[in-house]
Amino acid sequence: MAREKLKDEEKRKLNSENLKKLYSIFEYLIPYRSKFVIGLIFLVVGSFLLLAFPYVAGKLIDVASGDSSWILTDINQVAIALLGILFLQGIISYFRVYLFAQVSENAMSDIRSELYRRIIHLPIAFFDKNRTGELMSRMTADVSMLQTTFSTTLAELIRQIVTLIVGLSMIFITTPALSLFMLAVLPVIIIAAMLFGKKIRKLSRKSQDELAVSSTIAEETFQSILAVKSFTNENFEKKRFGSALDQVVQAAIHAAKYRAGFISFIIFALFGAMVAIIWYGATLLQNGEMSMGDLISFVLYTSFIGGSIAGLGDLFGQLQRAIGASERVLEIQEEATEEYQEKFTGETKIKGNIKFEDVTFAYESRKDIQVLNHLSLKIEQGQKVALVGKSGAGKTTVAQLLMRLYDGYQGSIAIDGKEITDYELRALRGNIGIVPQEIILFGGSIRENIAYGNPEASEEEILAAAEKANALDFINSFPEGLDTQVGERGVKLSGGQRQRIAIARTILKNPAILILDEATSSLDAESENLVQQAFHELMKNRTTLIIAHRLATIKSADNIFVLENGEITETGNHEKLFANSESTYNHLVNLQLVE
Ligand code: ADP
Ligand code: MG
Repeated sequence: MAREKLKDEEKRKLNSENLKKLYSIFEYLIPYRSKFVIGLIFLVVGSFLLLAFPYVAGKLIDVASGDSSWILTDINQVAIALLGILFLQGIISYFRVYLFAQVSENAMSDIRSELYRRIIHLPIAFFDKNRTGELMSRMTADVSMLQTTFSTTLAELIRQIVTLIVGLSMIFITTPALSLFMLAVLPVIIIAAMLFGKKIRKLSRKSQDELAVSSTIAEETFQSILAVKSFTNENFEKKRFGSALDQVVQAAIHAAKYRAGFISFIIFALFGAMVAIIWYGATLLQNGEMSMGDLISFVLYTSFIGGSIAGLGDLFGQLQRAIGASERVLEIQEEATEEYQEKFTGETKIKGNIKFEDVTFAYESRKDIQVLNHLSLKIEQGQKVALVGKSGAGKTTVAQLLMRLYDGYQGSIAIDGKEITDYELRALRGNIGIVPQEIILFGGSIRENIAYGNPEASEEEILAAAEKANALDFINSFPEGLDTQVGERGVKLSGGQRQRIAIARTILKNPAILILDEATSSLDAESENLVQQAFHELMKNRTTLIIAHRLATIKSADNIFVLENGEITETGNHEKLFANSESTYNHLVNLQLVE
């Protein structure tokens, strides 16, 4: 994946369309524009001050050699003026850097918080397509890149352009003959340096990308450390990471070869040019066509100009990367989010009559497979129904569609006679509770995890929910009780304990419709008993859809739906369906659901 991205990057040029993208990031600077403008003014003033330096330094020599045509006629005065210029330059630089930092820190924090808000409002389908690590890098690395752009790159760009223009004008005005000579020498070096620079940038980007590939490998391995250890695949992972590192080294060394060549070329070319220019200047000096002071300021200006040309090359490289970063940031801004209505009060009451009619659905990330195919089913308010079918039949999909975790189905899904797309999204999701098979808790305390179901719940309500969920006993057995930290993703608790916390959380949420998606399939017998009782408590007075493997759970259901080939092929209670020895249900019970 990272390697594909590399090709994209190479296409990324500084054309107007790309600059426009960078420009739209500028909008984040608008709230801080006055500071930004003051910073810019300081920047330009500072650059001019610095540019006055070679001129005045040259005058110092001329005044020393007896030229009294300038305003200051004493070398001490000129020296003090020089120091004054530097001092003022220093103060201005301080405020410029400080102001730009203030502006860029604030603007980037705004971008990050907007990005975060957007990402958490993106539909699940987006997360199916994008990896977490990649999203993280957009929020951190890409935004940091933009920050560097706004705090230093742009400032430097302006400073270098001013330096270049003013520097060139100054030497042309003061020493035209020498400047023309220089102009004949310099372009050769500049063009060679630019070609070199381009190659080097490309190569170092490649080594950066190889580094990203290796980091992704490490990240994924650490996240699945349990799997690595249980398969004792440490060596395999070490090799995988090792060969990724080899790629990094190879790419970096390849880039270093060019860089080394570049450096030796530049040293030779620049100093060679310097010798040529000084030689020509000395000739002019000897013939009395130029003063010593002029030569000094010429040499100083030339070094400024050379510096700014080299700097500009670098800055263009940075700008290109900034464009890449802004593209990746803006891409997320352009994704359609699922917005909740601001004014929603949460009052929409749902009774819980569910009706799927002729529902056809394929996941966006796998359009060619129709997961649901003209599926119809009906659940009455308060009913407990079971949905059974082989693994991969589409049971979870049914649950996710009901909650509108995925959109884009054909047909109709209605609750209480109203299409789910006509509900305010928060009202819909707020009235449906899902207990999935794999419970993932947030790193934090048990209290925080239970209260996630209703952040406004009181201590008593939290305890009552924990009790109903059969969780109070084990919570009290921990010395810190509700304040026990559950560890990252809840790893410090057992599966059954996590399950009961999830139940307590759902009790607090108090949804009208409940979905248990294979919620007990990964439990041991003892915790299953406790969890079953908790589920019983949770199901009271709620329309419940149980997606289940366990015969005991299914047997007691009011109605059973068999999902096969994307549609419901059999409906009825256990006795009726099981009685038919030819039924898929009978088959499923015999094959998979035996206890
Ligand atoms: P079940 O819960 O019955 O085991 P699912 O509803 O999870 O089945 O999956 C049904 C089919 O849809 C499977 O073929 C699965 O591979 C596919 N599927 C599930 N989730 C996604 C997804 N997010 N993107 C693409 N395909 C998916
Ligand atoms: Mg499933």
